[in-house]
Amino acid sequence: MIDVLNLCKTYQLGNVEVSALKNATFSFARGDFVAIMGPSGSGKSTLMNLLGCLDLPTSGTYRLEGHDIQDLKPDQLAVVRNKRIGFVFQNFNLLPRASALENIELPLLYGRVPDASRKAMSALDRVGLAERARHNPAELSGGERQRVAIARAIVNQPSLILADEPTGNLDSKTGEEIMNIFTQLNRDGVMVLLVTHEKEIAQYARHILLMRDGRIIKNAVIAEMTS
Ligand code: ADP
Ligand code: MG
Repeated sequence: MIDVLNLCKTYQLGNVEVSALKNATFSFARGDFVAIMGPSGSGKSTLMNLLGCLDLPTSGTYRLEGHDIQDLKPDQLAVVRNKRIGFVFQNFNLLPRASALENIELPLLYGRVPDASRKAMSALDRVGLAERARHNPAELSGGERQRVAIARAIVNQPSLILADEPTGNLDSKTGEEIMNIFTQLNRDGVMVLLVTHEKEIAQYARHILLMRDGRIIKNAVIAEMTS
């Protein structure tokens, strides 16, 4: 479902070129569950931004479900991103003055998606948070906030979820609960791709990419997919 060939990303910082991703080549199968690991500055977020169609590569090719992403125009890129990809962040990125339900609903309303309210409620139900729909983020625990963020990420039924350190701000027990939700989504057929520093978190994945200095230094499929 994902095929990456010689993908490179160079940032221009004044007169200095920063080579953040160097010749990445790999494939992820449909329904894969991947953990991207590596020290700070090794290029993990750069790779996630490219895979999430938030940015275009300097060179190389990225094929996502048959689309040659590097050839798309910005508006086409936005369509792929909105339809196929859900994002989850370390800091949840919720609107503080909106309820859990509204946090999920609002992007749908902006996108003129029909039936926003029902879809938002169904996504909240899927992460086990239907009874908290009317609560604001301040009234929710960290784990509950992250569940709202996951509900927001899955409401458009993406085929791919990208999560950058999704458990980085949570205690280990809550982190486990969040990983169980990702595991369930993955069982339901969604590809999950997460960046993590923690070995315990990476153990939920079936496929590990290890990065260093902009290069993928290890690409290991730990377990074959069972279905
Ligand atoms: P990680 O997520 O693994 O910590 P990043 O992908 O954020 O690594 O960064 C990889 C390298 O690219 C680092 O040297 C970083 O300083 C550089 N970098 C990242 N984003 C930019 C940018 N927008 N402009 C210039 N340099 C950047
Ligand atoms: Mg990063």
